[in-house]
Amino acid sequence: MDIVSAKLKHSETIMTNLQLKDVMTANVVCVQPDTSLQNIFQTLAKNNYSCCVVASDNRIPLGILTERDLIRIISEQGLTAELMSAAVPEHMYSPPFTLPADTSLDEVLNLQENRNVKHLLATNIAGEIVGIVTLSDVVKAYNHVVKQQTKNLEKTVIQRTQDLERVNKKLTTLSMRDALTGLSNRRAMEVDITRVHAASIRHGRPYSVILFDIDYFKKYNDHYGHQSGDTILKLVADHFRNGVRESDAVYRFGGEEFLLIMPETDLDEAMIPVQRIVESLYNSKTLHIKSPLEYISTSAGIACSIHEGEKITAWRKVVELADIALYKAKNAGRNQALTAQSSKLNAAS
Ligand code: GH3
Ligand code: MG
Ligand code: MG
Repeated sequence: MDIVSAKLKHSETIMTNLQLKDVMTANVVCVQPDTSLQNIFQTLAKNNYSCCVVASDNRIPLGILTERDLIRIISEQGLTAELMSAAVPEHMYSPPFTLPADTSLDEVLNLQENRNVKHLLATNIAGEIVGIVTLSDVVKAYNHVVKQQTKNLEKTVIQRTQDLERVNKKLTTLSMRDALTGLSNRRAMEVDITRVHAASIRHGRPYSVILFDIDYFKKYNDHYGHQSGDTILKLVADHFRNGVRESDAVYRFGGEEFLLIMPETDLDEAMIPVQRIVESLYNSKTLHIKSPLEYISTSAGIACSIHEGEKITAWRKVVELADIALYKAKNAGRNQALTAQSSKLNAAS
């Protein structure tokens, strides 16, 4: 069975991959037809075998003599000295059933099932006996194969499930990320802000939402081309990514709009870093000759979940307020950050 185990270890071996020679035993007791019964008894007893093969000089099998045959012979003829000394007559052993040693085990199993063969002799090309198998050897091998295949199958299922989980995770990540800028996208923002909003309500703590929008971006695209526009989007995204605190999160909200969530931050606390982001982008002096401001700039609208002393119940309302503030910043000349409240923050320009 060692060969069977070894073969099965490496692949999804099936019965057809195994051959008679993999499960046969080469330890066969061969006796000449003229051997006396007495000698046969002695040989079997000495080797502790349950059968022997009656074979010609050159190991061409003539038949098998099993313990059962011997009992039958003695019960029919009586245990006489004459019988014991007589050579094994031909009719005393059943005709041999032989198969080439390289026959597939699958075929062997079929044959054994159909013909009820208990002992099977394996032969080489010359027809000489090279081994013997019993039905139970084949059945054992079969059971072993089935067990191993089940194990292999379980392993494959586990492997496939893990692969699927990995792919799903990757897909989820991809579906949450904006391909151009590498920032989290609007879908991710909705998931995150829902969590931030719930925590804010639970703990009675504020959070702020900032909407940024690149100024005169259509003009930029029209003049420099869409690809250059994409480069600006990446540049602005990097600017935001590098400019926010670790606890803050920035998203590509859509087109040339970006959204920043600042947990645990009220309007006053949000103002300074947001103004700094707006100012420093403008101060990096990325040329935009079609903009009245000459360089790439953004406008920002800031809103807080606690608005004029009242807790806002839905996060969409906070985003809406940020959008109103952004509109105000645009109208006030762009390149600046304003809040949703009536008072204007310091212009960034
Ligand atoms: P404002 O200062 O009022 O914001 O003017 P604007 O031109 O920036 O605004 P508008 O809404 O008129 O134009 C937005 C432009 O952003 C138009 C659109 O082609 C461009 N845009 C949106 N998404 C992308 C993108 O993924 N790549 C590029 N290159 N351009 C984009
Ligand atoms: Mg816009
Ligand atoms: Mg714009």
